[in-house]
Amino acid sequence: MIYKLPNTGTSIFTIMSKMALDYNAINLSQGFPDFEVSPEVISLINKHMMGGRNQYAPMPGVPVLLERIASKVNGIHGCKYDGLSEVTVTAGATESIYSAITMLVHPGDEVIIFEPAYDSYEPNVLINGGVPVRIKLRLPDFSIPWDEVRQKITNKTRLIVINSPHNPTGSALSKEDMLELSSIVTNSEIYVLSDEVYEHIIFDGLVHESILKYPEIMEKGICVSSFGKTFHATGWKIGYSVAPRHLTEEIRKIHQFVTFSVNTPIQWAFAEFLENPENYKHVPAMFQNKRDLFLEHTKNSRFKPFPSYGTYFQLMSYEGMYDLGDYELAQKLTKESGLASIPMSFFYKDRQDDHILRFCFAKSDETLEKGAEICCKL
Ligand code: PMP
Ligand code: GLN
Repeated sequence: MIYKLPNTGTSIFTIMSKMALDYNAINLSQGFPDFEVSPEVISLINKHMMGGRNQYAPMPGVPVLLERIASKVNGIHGCKYDGLSEVTVTAGATESIYSAITMLVHPGDEVIIFEPAYDSYEPNVLINGGVPVRIKLRLPDFSIPWDEVRQKITNKTRLIVINSPHNPTGSALSKEDMLELSSIVTNSEIYVLSDEVYEHIIFDGLVHESILKYPEIMEKGICVSSFGKTFHATGWKIGYSVAPRHLTEEIRKIHQFVTFSVNTPIQWAFAEFLENPENYKHVPAMFQNKRDLFLEHTKNSRFKPFPSYGTYFQLMSYEGMYDLGDYELAQKLTKESGLASIPMSFFYKDRQDDHILRFCFAKSDETLEKGAEICCKL
């Protein structure tokens, strides 16, 4: 086969969002907010555009933004990253994920991915000739089976990909998990890619366990995040990676030839917006209220919710309600009941179907109430 991804199709997020549009359904499928970005950031972008900041940004990112990101993560996690040499601004977290995997993975290298898994990890491994090694998270709490991770490590294991808070399950890694990970990677040739795009969307007083807090992991760690998630602007495609200097140098070599640099005025605007921590400190409470509102309004439905500790996703089991596969049900509900969701089986390579749908609650209260009302009628 000449092409590299012969078996990769259109993502389920695109499929379900299109179906929601076609059938005029309430769209709780693809993960994006239906409410607006802060007008303050929009006017900051406007200010910088009008002020002439419209040409190429420096390849790694606008220096003041690199420094703001470093002081933000250093302040939160008690680390000491240098913005200019250890932070890279990319076109969404997606480009950081691509760059990290591409700079590390050679043909035949094994990459541990936990399932259910966000869709972008595996194709990036395959593009680079790597071998995805899938490990299923353990129900009911979707925890990492560390004993199995140890068993699956070989001399070809190059990378472990983690994601916390976790899409789609809403689980979050604990300090104990990070210590397990640390003991596995210390003194090994195994690297860690930590997808932390939902770092600020964590509930019930839980503290987000970033790999940035763990120097032994960060010796070979890349931490990825996204302004799209934190500031409700998924369409702006701006994210970043934080990694030690020797890894950042390599990430930038990929970034230089994928996008070269990310749009300039938005970088300047976020640099200013990040000056005020209040602009992101309210985010966990805001989304927790949305989770609680959705749960409250669906409590009389026949769906059974899983705990959601973070992200803006809520898993619901429909066991005993319908004798249908999850994709079939997601399509049926979109077309016939006007409610779009994501079938969880798409996060598994073998399409394991546990009769679970994922609902996105990053929506206005009105949208959530309407979606929940439909749930209660099913
Ligand atoms: N990782 C996860 C787990 C996500 O849910 C998303 C959301 N789209 C991304 C990465 C990509 O982030 P971005 O839109 O900034 O590329
Ligand atoms: N992360 C989003 C989700 O899980 C989708 C992003 C995308 O469509 N690529 O729904």
